[in-house]
Order: sequence, then structure tokens, then C-alpha cells
Amino acid sequence: MTLKTSSKINLNREPIKLEVRDSIFINLTRSICPVCKITIDAEVNVKENKVYMRKRCPEHGWFEALIFSDYEMYRDFERYNKPGDIPLEFQTSVSKGCPSDCGLCPEHKQHTCLAIMEITEMCNMKCPVCFASSGPVKGLHNKTMEEINSMIGTLERSEGVASVIMISGGEPTVHPNFLGIMQRLQEAKVKKIIINSNGLKFANSEQLCQDLADIGDNISIYLQFDGFDSKIHEYIRNDPELLPKKLQAIKNLSKYKIGINLVMTVQKGINDHEIGKVVKFMHETPAIGGLSLQPFFAEGRYTDYDPMDHTTMPDVIKAIVDQTENMYEKSDFFPIPCPYPHCSAITFSYNDPETNEFFTIPRLVNVENYLDFFRNTIMPDFNEELMDALTSIFSFSTVSGTHDMIEGFCNACGIEFNFDEVQDTLGHYLENVKMITIKPFMNSWDFDVRRIMKCCVHQVTEDNKLIPFCAYNTIYREQYQSQSMRISLDVLPKSNGDK
Ligand code: SF4
Ligand code: SF4
Ligand code: SF4
Repeated sequence: MTLKTSSKINLNREPIKLEVRDSIFINLTRSICPVCKITIDAEVNVKENKVYMRKRCPEHGWFEALIFSDYEMYRDFERYNKPGDIPLEFQTSVSKGCPSDCGLCPEHKQHTCLAIMEITEMCNMKCPVCFASSGPVKGLHNKTMEEINSMIGTLERSEGVASVIMISGGEPTVHPNFLGIMQRLQEAKVKKIIINSNGLKFANSEQLCQDLADIGDNISIYLQFDGFDSKIHEYIRNDPELLPKKLQAIKNLSKYKIGINLVMTVQKGINDHEIGKVVKFMHETPAIGGLSLQPFFAEGRYTDYDPMDHTTMPDVIKAIVDQTENMYEKSDFFPIPCPYPHCSAITFSYNDPETNEFFTIPRLVNVENYLDFFRNTIMPDFNEELMDALTSIFSFSTVSGTHDMIEGFCNACGIEFNFDEVQDTLGHYLENVKMITIKPFMNSWDFDVRRIMKCCVHQVTEDNKLIPFCAYNTIYREQYQSQSMRISLDVLPKSNGDK
């Protein structure tokens, strides 16, 4: 073959070296503008094994945020994704597209595993990091019983039964009819009730603990607990004297056998060095059934946030491993497959304080085979009972320290006993089986429509909506705030970084 040459082409010239991009493009999704909240396209890119979101609003320009600090884990987690369940009723129709049609609209991919009911805007604290912007301000709204009934009705029509409800706020215990609402939920036969609380009222009143215990043994407290150092409490909660109050709350609640799960909000450079200490405290305290770690997200009053340098889920897992002297391993953590796989990580462990025996479910059972829903259909020795046990606890509706969780754990691990007859054994496991979850909620910087469409944690509203929690916080919360709340937004302190 003869090569055609042209006087315009110089075959002897030096090859031109094109500049290489500093990141690898791996996906295109949709997000929102952090300023005006309109829906915009968003690239997902990988740079030095970290995953970033990059997007452009026609009016407010480019935004970039770190979304996952370990690409290997990001890719690995994507396998753990199961088909969603269809709710009995959708509350809205498809019109403008996701995320503007919440919800739930018929395009939503998962039912409600965990329903959140905010019963008050009031709080007896004024944390600079509060995403609900709550505080001790007169005139903030307490939900009426009529509104509570309407919310229960919405959930019942969507799910058949209201299975797991998380009561939140504000601080739910300051609602003037707090116990009446708990009683109403019992009448509605809600299976498990979780109360999100800062614990102050439980620390101050044993009577409140007793009254709550008298209402039912299906109530657990998710107790805000950010660490031990007074500087942490001062920075995050505006109260350096908080630790003794938290410890008193744990003492009072455990006296009345009310289940406790600690909730630690993690901020880089502020309390991430105490993650291991809190994990160990959970193991040493029989009354505490679990720990939820939530990286800070910049919504509401919290604005001290560096989108390119903040704690993401893999950082929390690494801190648990490093700070517990490798008691835990990275491979102990799996995503919960109900929502989108980047929405959570979870593990269950058993630690016998007398023998020092320690194991996690993934060390006994090949969890991978059962939670990888793309793979399990071709497993030759598929064990249906094991599958049921694992899927029953690898769920957002699992509540730590409950009979159900222990039963699922033991079934998965092949530990056999009759739960109803062997109460001592059950007690032993209730004290020593622990659940750790990591929940990286989204803000408007890292908002990803893929995650929101499969969200299974839904805010129930008084006007018959079930709104995915991260969409509620980033897009919808404002329209549900009372007039007093809007006025108070200018009064309460912004995050410490703004001072
Ligand atoms: S998040 Fe779900 S309910 Fe909301 S618009 Fe998207 S698909 Fe519909
Ligand atoms: S973060 Fe919780 S405790 Fe703090 S002000 Fe908000 S609702 Fe109250
Ligand atoms: S609340 Fe947010 S982080 Fe949790 S499952 Fe829903 S979208 Fe994912």
C-alpha cells in the first residue's frame, strides 16, 4: 500500500502529547444546585481513589464535592442492591420528575422501611449543627393529635401496618403531650418505636423513664452521643458540660430496661479521633445495643462544611478499624441492600466480656454470597433460612438490642436456642450482641438522584406525604416549617465555623 502524502502533512514531526485529565469519569447522574436547588446533571469522577461529584448550575456555576473516600469500596458496595418492594399506595403522581414529585410518586423504587415523624420543632438545646434548625424558641410548632393521626393514617395506607416509626423533632420529649403520642402509637399497634433524643429529659427525670417503660417494651432510644471530650460537646452542641448528663440518661434508661442505641455525629478534626472510644464504650455497656455513626451533613443551621474535605463513610469504617486496635476489620462492614448501596454500612458483632471471644457475622457466614443479589440466584448450596435471617437484620428497620435483632443474629450464626424458654441466654445475647451502622445522609452538595429514588427512610408529613429523608432535608423542609421557625432561623447560633 502506498501512503498518500501531502505537502501540508509533516510525517516527521514530533508526536503531540495531549494533557491528561486529573480524574476518571465513571458516571452521570442528577443532583441539585446547592444554592437554588434546581435539578441539574452531575458527573461522578474518580481522582486518586476518591469519588467526587461535579456539577454545574446555569446560574450559580460549578460545584465539586467529595462523596466517597475509597473508590474500591464504592465499587464493591454497588453489588449489594436488592429489588425494592412496592408500597400499597403512592401519594403523588409523576409530573416534573425526580426529585420534584415527592412523594412517594409511582417511580419511587423502595417502600418505607423506616418512617420518621417529627412531632415538634422545639428543643431544649440549640446545637450549632442542627439540621432541623430547632431550639428553645417560644411559639415553635408542636404537632397536634389530629396531625399525628393523619401521619399514622398515611403510613398505614402505604404499608398496611405502621411497622417501625422513628419519633424525632426537635427534641420529641419536650412535646407537651409526648407520652400521649407514645400511647397513641401503641394503640395503632406500631411494632417498634424509636425515639431520637438528646437525653436531657431522661437524665433529669427517672419518672419519665418509668412512664415510657410502662407504655411498652417496644420503645428504644437513639441517644445523641458525640464523644467524651468537653471540647467536642462545646463545639458541636454548645454545652461543654454535656457528658455527665448523657451518662445519667443512660443510667436512668437502663434502670427501666429501655433499649439504647448511641448516635454519634462525626465531624472531621472535631470528634473523629474518639470513634474507637465510643465503640469500646458501647461494648462495655450492657444497656447499649448499638451505635449509629453519622457523618455531618451541611443542612439547616450547619454551615461549617468543606465539600472537598470532610468525613465520608469509608473514613468512619477506617477509624473504627484503626481505633479499636483491629478488633474490627474493613471486611466486617456491608451495605444494607434495601436502599441504594452507598447509603449505609452495617455490621453485627458478639463480644463476651468474660472470655474475650469476639466475632462478627461476616466472619462466620459468607454474607457476601447472600447479600449480593446479583449473584445469589446461581448459588448451588443456597440456604433459604440463612438468607431470611440475614435479610431480616440487614435492614433499616432493624433496631439494636431487640429480641428480633438477636434472633436474626443467632439464626444467621447458627446459634440455636429457644428464645422463649431460655431467658438467661437471651439476656446474655441482648447484652453482648451489638449493631454498628454508618449512615451518610446527603446534603445539597452530594445529593444523588440514584440514591434518593431508592431511599427507604421516609419523613411522614401531616399532609399525606412520605418524603425520602434526604430530599426532605435538602429540598422540602422549608415548606413545612412554621412561621415562628422561619423567624427563629435568624436568632439561633450558626455553626461554630461561622463565628
Ligand atoms: S425521590 Fe422518589 S418519590 Fe421523590 S420524586 Fe424521586 S422517585 Fe418520586
Ligand atoms: S441537633 Fe437535636 S438536640 Fe440539637 S438543637 Fe437540633 S434537635 Fe435539638
Ligand atoms: S435517608 Fe438518605 S442516606 Fe438514608 S437511605 Fe434515604 S437517601 Fe439514602
